[in-house]
Amino acid sequence: MRLLQVARTAAKNANKLQKCANYSQAAAKPVESPNVLYSGIFINNEWHRSRSGATFPTINPTNGKVIAEVQRGSKEDIDHAVEAANEAFRFGSKWRTTDASQRGRLLYKLADLLERDAAYVASLETLDNGKPFTQSHPIDVQGSIKVLRYMAGWADKYHGKTIPLDGNYMAYTRHEPVGVCGQITPWNFPLLMMTWKIAPALAMGNTVVLKPAEQTPLTSLYMAELCKEAGFPPGVVNVVPGFGDAGAALVANTNVDKVAFTGSTEVGKLIQQNSGVGNLKRVTLELGGKSPNIILADVDIEKAVEAAHSAVYFNQGQVCCAGSRTFVEDAIYDEFIERSVERAKKRKVGDPFHPDTEQGPQVDEEQMNKILSLIKEGVGQGAKLVHGGERHGSEGYFVQPTVFVDVEDHHVIAREEIFGPVQQILRFKDLDEIIARANKTNYGLASAIFSKDIDKINYLSQGIKAGTVWVNCYNVLTAHTPFGGYKDSGHGREMGENGLHQYTEVKTIITSVLQKNS
Ligand code: NAP
Ligand code: MG
Repeated sequence: MRLLQVARTAAKNANKLQKCANYSQAAAKPVESPNVLYSGIFINNEWHRSRSGATFPTINPTNGKVIAEVQRGSKEDIDHAVEAANEAFRFGSKWRTTDASQRGRLLYKLADLLERDAAYVASLETLDNGKPFTQSHPIDVQGSIKVLRYMAGWADKYHGKTIPLDGNYMAYTRHEPVGVCGQITPWNFPLLMMTWKIAPALAMGNTVVLKPAEQTPLTSLYMAELCKEAGFPPGVVNVVPGFGDAGAALVANTNVDKVAFTGSTEVGKLIQQNSGVGNLKRVTLELGGKSPNIILADVDIEKAVEAAHSAVYFNQGQVCCAGSRTFVEDAIYDEFIERSVERAKKRKVGDPFHPDTEQGPQVDEEQMNKILSLIKEGVGQGAKLVHGGERHGSEGYFVQPTVFVDVEDHHVIAREEIFGPVQQILRFKDLDEIIARANKTNYGLASAIFSKDIDKINYLSQGIKAGTVWVNCYNVLTAHTPFGGYKDSGHGREMGENGLHQYTEVKTIITSVLQKNS
């Protein structure tokens, strides 16, 4: 296989990586035009062109211009990558005989390399995705480093059990890797979702073929090179960018043992169906949400308004667990609205590399148009638009921070995931009413309660059907705590010990014990 032009000579690479290291030392200042070093298909620790010769552009959503042409992997490339991952997983292979503690050391090393290149990688993420650098650096990159280190620590600590049995037997369990993991990651947190997926998989000894979202492939490709530099053997981590058919080819390949997907419920359902065709793959799905954020009348209203604002608008509203239904108790409803509109008016929208920017562009034109059309639908159904509602500017894919009030449960904007900077404020009167309304959705990813009353907090947090309940906080996502959804928000959990478990098969070994005199 021909090596790509982008797989530069070792000397050139070393030089560029040194530059990245220098960027990082500059106290988290962005690199405004980060070079794109890798745009190929990464298989067996080598860079390849697509077998079809096709490429696709990745766009800078701030101005709509092409950043780079990326190799467009499709079935043949996916199958090649799965073959490499399958070979790397072979019993007795270098990876399968790597000590668990050494797997941990490789993940620690990967975290160190990402830390070295943090400013460069955060800048690349901002360029490709549009999220402000003031968030991509501390949240996406530093968050990824934490995930890698957390999972590294688990590598040699996720033990089985010994189990007493009746009769002359003894039993023990082993937590073994599942095998080849096909991982399909979204564009809203490209690097962070990559580490959420590869870190537990590698800690437990699996191999990976990762297909990044076509809107934002660049940081995943850079991470692939860092995996090689960290010392992961060939075939353990493979990254195949593509779009239109690559994801489906990964799910169809019968040498893939497990699929992990983060994205829309619509595609998640297809993946679940198709994962049972051919071989029966293990599946974890982290899908959409329409999360209720419940504000009781006893709160510190200023703090609650700020928290609810950030629960909706963070990451341009492109967050699966966004607090996109803000339920406010009757007694403070009017004041809450007034303050929320004031806050939305102050939101700074613009160049994601500028240090004051709170909100950059949406990821692409399609998402921007989808949001604008849902806003129109909201107005059409009678929800009251009190701020924003239009495109911001004429270049790039920016949307004005938008606030709807007097939203009713049946409105489309109260039911569908908007995935944009659009706040829906709904009024409620009592606790039982709010539990029923919070749960009146097919989703069940996250939720929050703002109150000082512990009895009400306990009552609500048990009544709400969602994978996470935040109390007096929002969007606290950590490597230590499981995250995932009820109902159409998916199944399985990522992160924490529960997340690790999804990357293992439990093997039971039962041994007959020789009895004296038998
Ligand atoms: P999407 O529909 O969630 O997923 C697109 C990804 O799924 C691509 O990587 C695609 O790969 C793959 N895919 C598509 N069909 C597939 C199939 N049949 N089998 C396997 N993989 C398949 O993303 P989107 O279209 O960019 O966004 C649509 C909506 O999803 C958004 O508006 C938002 O509401 C939601 N979303 C949610 C999250 C989240 O964090 N939960 C993240 C992103 C988007 P190919 O191109 O190779 O087919
Ligand atoms: Mg892009």
